[in-house]
Amino acid sequence: MASVSPKNPKKKKSVAPPRRGWSALFGGPSFFGNLTTTVLIFLLLMSVYSLISGFVQPANDVPLSVVAADVAAGKIHAIKVNGDSLDLEYADGSMKVSRKDPSAGLPETLATYGVTPAELAKVAITIQGQSGFQFWFLTLAPVLLPLIFIVFLFWFLSRQVKGAGMQAFSFGQSKARVIDPADSSQRVTFADIAGAREAKEELEEIVDFLKSPKKFLDIGARIPKGIILMGAPGTGKTLLARAVAGEAGVPFFSISGSEFVEMFVGVGASRVRDLFQLAKKAAPAIIFVDEIDAVGRVRGTGVGGGNDEREQTLNQILVEMDGFEPTEKVVVMAATNRPDVLDPALLRPGRFDRRVTIDLPDRRDREEILTIHARKKPLGPDVALAVIAERTPGFSGAELYSLMNEGAILAARENRKEVTQYDLIRSIEKVMLGPERKSHLLSKKEKELTSYHEAGHALVSSILEHADPVHKISIISRGRAAGYTLKLPFEDRKMQSKKQFLDDIAATLGGYVAEEMLFDDVTTGPSNDLMVVTALAREMVTRYGMSEKLGPIAFGDRQLGNEPYSEEVAAQIDAEVSRIIEEAKARATKVISEHRVVLDAIAKELIEKETIERNEFEKILIANGITPKKKEEEGIDILPEK
Ligand code: ADP
Ligand code: ZN
Ligand code: MG
Repeated sequence: MASVSPKNPKKKKSVAPPRRGWSALFGGPSFFGNLTTTVLIFLLLMSVYSLISGFVQPANDVPLSVVAADVAAGKIHAIKVNGDSLDLEYADGSMKVSRKDPSAGLPETLATYGVTPAELAKVAITIQGQSGFQFWFLTLAPVLLPLIFIVFLFWFLSRQVKGAGMQAFSFGQSKARVIDPADSSQRVTFADIAGAREAKEELEEIVDFLKSPKKFLDIGARIPKGIILMGAPGTGKTLLARAVAGEAGVPFFSISGSEFVEMFVGVGASRVRDLFQLAKKAAPAIIFVDEIDAVGRVRGTGVGGGNDEREQTLNQILVEMDGFEPTEKVVVMAATNRPDVLDPALLRPGRFDRRVTIDLPDRRDREEILTIHARKKPLGPDVALAVIAERTPGFSGAELYSLMNEGAILAARENRKEVTQYDLIRSIEKVMLGPERKSHLLSKKEKELTSYHEAGHALVSSILEHADPVHKISIISRGRAAGYTLKLPFEDRKMQSKKQFLDDIAATLGGYVAEEMLFDDVTTGPSNDLMVVTALAREMVTRYGMSEKLGPIAFGDRQLGNEPYSEEVAAQIDAEVSRIIEEAKARATKVISEHRVVLDAIAKELIEKETIERNEFEKILIANGITPKKKEEEGIDILPEK
């Protein structure tokens, strides 16, 4: 049971390098499995070797003395000399073999056995030269084969060690991924990024520098070494960094902060060193450190267990950046969605002194992003991306991308060749809340309870002036929510006022209040609502100065150790949070008891239809004498007609 406004779920990607090479070929990381293979290969080599040697040395030699006697007796017809081996052809047609001393000629050898030249002349002696290859092979094989085998064994074992994850041979090597500017399939340019106009303008300068550094260096200009991209997850920080490399046509070395914090102390630092060395060799180049907050957190606060490894890595990054020559053509870019936790040392001049903020896209940007991601998808004639953009305030670029993708999946699953508007509308909720769980059946009692809960949210939202209008109510469960009320602001909001916060809190408590009032009981259902409400109220007090009692003071995060405050103030904050929530609850209770008839009407409709769209909902309001909230100039009808 959730009252839903668009949010940005945190996402994390992890890329495991594919296993390659021999260890994969030999099937798996088991060291002993591979040892067996090695031994088998060894045996095979040995048998091949002995086969070759055996071929060369046949067993049934005739002794030389016998050969001499046979020659003298005229029994031998012809002798073929091949190196030191002799093929004997007897007069009776039989063939025999023998060998002689390799250093002596055949005639001399036979002469020493008493064969006269006359006797020898009757024998046809042919001398066959050994081919060069044969000679060398036979001479070198006994030495080379074991040598080759030993080298192979070493190489193979070293692969095993890596395969087994010990990485003993690649300790500090940077695990950076490199994107080669020549690889057009990976190339990203500014044209692939919608919106983010200011960010792109800022980065144009960097592109210009990387393209023609000489122009800048000649005039003595110092180009920023470090640029930090700040923005919510999925706003296209990584994409922008890649686009800078793509526009400038320089190599892009990227590594994620979380990858540094991996193993033993010192490894992160040596990785940083390697990474910078690689990039300097390839200069002009870009080094991109994604999620830099993973290593760049404020040092010495003890958050994260006072991780030594992190500090060393961070220090090494700083050392490398400080050590840049002014003529170095390497630009370091970093991205974070937690700029508030970064160590101030990172942001000092000469380090990451350029800050580029990327906001969530506004309506026009969202339409452009949708258009970009619709490029390769055939859209039906009814698709109006402007309408989708209108219905997705708060969506990040990544969420819009996945919305378009979900739409295409829906169309493909129904064997259609085109994506329709209805596919996209359904995808909005899927991206926001997770897929519908039609199989999750509610009992009659649960259905009633959920209906009243959601009706409570919807009613309070419609009555209170500053709450967001209701777009849809449903008791079909999605993700972890049993039902949901979709409230969307008419416009993108960059700022929220105190009144809006208070009405929002009251509307979010509407579900809890309705349950309590009707069933004289409270379920576990509204737990998420309560979390949202508590967080909102706390932010009002500690961040936005919206409590009269505590005044316009921003209280830092106590856990992070910045601007700590006393126990006394902590107690005051807690009291204010409680007060805000109590008052909001009282207002929600008042609205619901005054409009009990409407609540019943909405709940009844929900029990019957399970989902109410905005126009149906407004009909119920009008029938009960309530004027629905209207947008000033309502351009497009944003409701899907099924
Ligand atoms: P971040 O690094 O800020 O978390 P990413 O750069 O990884 O976000 O963005 C994820 C995906 O979202 C991108 O690959 C892209 O498909 C899409 N995206 C995000 N912002 C935009 C944008 N402004 N224009 C087009 N696509 C975007
Ligand atoms: Zn709820
Ligand atoms: Mg990213």
